[in-house]
Amino acid sequence: VKATFDNIATTDPDLKAFLALNKDAALKKAAEMDEKGIDADNVLAGIPMAIKDNIVTNGLTTTAASKMLENFVPIYDATVVKTLNSKGIINVGKTNMDEFAMGGSTENSAFHDTKNAWDYTRVPGGSSGGSAAAVASGEVIAALGSDTGGSIRQPASFNGIVGMKPTYGRISRWGLIAFASSLDEIGPMTRTVKDNAILLSAIAGHDDHDLTTSTKEVPDFAADLNAQTSVKGMKIGLPKEFLGEGVDQDVKDAILAAADKYRELGATVDEVSLPHNKYGVAAYYIIASSEASSNLQRFDGIRYGHRSKDVKNLEDVYVNSRTEGFGDEVKRRIMLGTFSLSAGFYDAYFKKAAQVRTLIINDFQAVLKDHDFIMGPVAPTPAFKIGEEISDPMTMYMNDILTIPVNLAGLPGMSIPAGFAKGMPVGMQLIGRPFDEATLYKAGYVFE
Ligand code: GLN
Repeated sequence: VKATFDNIATTDPDLKAFLALNKDAALKKAAEMDEKGIDADNVLAGIPMAIKDNIVTNGLTTTAASKMLENFVPIYDATVVKTLNSKGIINVGKTNMDEFAMGGSTENSAFHDTKNAWDYTRVPGGSSGGSAAAVASGEVIAALGSDTGGSIRQPASFNGIVGMKPTYGRISRWGLIAFASSLDEIGPMTRTVKDNAILLSAIAGHDDHDLTTSTKEVPDFAADLNAQTSVKGMKIGLPKEFLGEGVDQDVKDAILAAADKYRELGATVDEVSLPHNKYGVAAYYIIASSEASSNLQRFDGIRYGHRSKDVKNLEDVYVNSRTEGFGDEVKRRIMLGTFSLSAGFYDAYFKKAAQVRTLIINDFQAVLKDHDFIMGPVAPTPAFKIGEEISDPMTMYMNDILTIPVNLAGLPGMSIPAGFAKGMPVGMQLIGRPFDEATLYKAGYVFE
C-alpha cells in the first residue's frame, strides 16, 4: 500500500487519474492487517484498489466530479464498497470522471482532465476515465467504474485494459450516484480477465437495499478459465453493423484477427445482423436524459452539496444553486430530458424511444438464441486527442454507438484488449446472454 501511494505521488501529478486519496485510512488498514495477519485463501486481502467518484465512500469526499458535490462527505458506504472493504480490499482513493458520468472523455469533469495512460495528449475515454488510467498506468491493479452507455468499456478500450459491464441487476447500485437508473451498472476494471472475474464474483449478488438486484446465484467466474479449450464448439455472432461505416479500418482488422483466433480454437463465427442498432444512440439520449432529469432533481441546494450564497427567496435557492453547481453537459441533459418527459411531447419522444428500445432488445435476443455471444469493437476509433471532440456533443455521442445498445438491452458487455491502431490500444467487445458473464470471461481469457 505504501508503494502504491509512492507510485501515485510520482505518476498522478501528470496523469491526474485521482480526485481524492484515502492515504491515512488506507495505511492504517494495511498496518492493522499486517499486525493481525490475513487469511491465506483470501486473494483480495490487502489489494489496493481505486473507486470511481460517483460511488459513495463513508468519510471520503464523493463528488461525481461535480461542483455541486465538491465538499460532499458521505456518511455511509455503497454496498459494493462495504463488500470490498469487508473482503480486505484497500481503497486508495477516488477517481476522476465526467460530471455525473455524462460524457466519454473525462473532459466534463468540473475539476481537471485526466490523460490517457499511453499518450498524455489523448483522452482516457469516459466517463470512468480516471479508473481506466489508474489501472493502465499501474497506479492500482483494479478499480471500480460505472457504465450507463459505455463508461466502463470505452475507457477500458482506450487504455488497453479489461472492463466488464455486468448484466443489469447483477451488482447492487445502492450508493451509486444515479444517472439513468434503467441503464446504470457498476463493474470492475482490471489489467487481466482473471482479476476481473475474481472481482465480479466478489461484488455481485442480491442486495436488500437495491430491489433491481437479482437473487440468481453468483458463480465463481475465475474457475474453469482455459485459453485453449474454453471456446471450442461455441457459436459466435459478428454483427455486420459493427464493422460498418465510421469504424476505423485498423479497429476492424483487430476484430477480424480475433475472429480468426476463435475459429482456430474450434469456435464458429457467423455474420449476424442487429438492424435496429443504428437507432440506439437516439433512443439512449432520450431515455438516459429523461431519467437523469428526474434523478438530478435531488440537487436542489438544500439536501446535498452546493447552495448558492446569492439568494433572496426559495426559487433563487433552486435556480442559482443549480446554475452554479452543474456544468454545461449536465444542464444540456436535464433540459433535453425534461422536454422529452413533458406532457405535450412524451408520446413523440420518451414513449417512442422506449418502443425503439424494445426493438433493440428483440434484435439481441434473436441473435443470442443460437449464438453463445456476440463479438465486435467497443468504439469506432482509438483514443482521440484532448480537446479534439469536446466542443461537438453529436460527435461525442456517436462514439458510443457500439456500447449503448448493450445497456438498453441490459446485457453483459466486456471490453478486452485486442491490439493496437496507430500505436494506441483497441478493445474488443464481447456481449453475452443475460447473467452469462461466465461465457464472456471464458472467451476473453483466450487473449490473456
Ligand atoms: N458517453 C455516454 C454518455 O455520455 C455514456 C456515459 C456512461 O456510460 N455513463 O452518456
